[in-house]
Amino acid sequence: MHVAVFGGSFNPPHVGHQLAALWVLETAGVDELWLIPALVHPFEKALAPFEHRLRMCERAAAALGPRARVSDVEARLGGPSRTLRTIETLQEANPGVAFSLVIGSDLVAESSTWHGAERLRQLVPFIVVGRQGRDAAVASARTAADAGTQPLAIPDVSSTAIRAALAAGRPTGSWVPRRVLEYILENRLYGAGASASAGDESAGSGGGAPVG
Ligand code: ATP
Repeated sequence: MHVAVFGGSFNPPHVGHQLAALWVLETAGVDELWLIPALVHPFEKALAPFEHRLRMCERAAAALGPRARVSDVEARLGGPSRTLRTIETLQEANPGVAFSLVIGSDLVAESSTWHGAERLRQLVPFIVVGRQGRDAAVASARTAADAGTQPLAIPDVSSTAIRAALAAGRPTGSWVPRRVLEYILENRLYGAGASASAGDESAGSGGGAPVG
């Protein structure tokens, strides 16, 4: 079995993540894709509580079908995420699985500075997802070994822009999956609902018990 590991803050998960995940599932020859939310950001960027981000990832993944799954491995490992540690843990726990690592093209340059970057490159092939406006040169090839791939860049939706819009009460409906947005509004994450209205969206009655 071949699994694509897609880690991130997912603070919150958005349609850019979903589009990237679907593209990988449909074109990269993988059997499954695992979304892996970080417990703590490696550079101590403040994040919404892990349980909330896990639940939102589950909602985002549900739209992609049973081949998209969510792992809480980072919570079990504890502390700041280290991609190398995550991959080594997954490989140890799943000896029959071939793993690849999905990253957006915005992270390609940075990834060479990650802890154990060279070892990580030896352990797993990278699947690079083009992110519009963020390093077009890299976006044109999925991996160095896959330069024949047609260029494809996912629209540059970002969690940062979504958090800012939610806090300001502006609409986010075209960036945030509906069921994730419902969860955000129900749990008043990212300052949503703090202003008079959370834009022109209304909270639905979808599941997801409030946590922590
Ligand atoms: P933030 O704005 O908080 O930094 P983000 O939108 O970049 O967040 P992350 O959770 O940090 O989202 O991203 C997780 C992974 O998904 C990273 O590899 C990132 O490059 C990739 N990614 C995020 N958004 C997109 C997008 N719109 N297109 C392609 N890849 C993306």
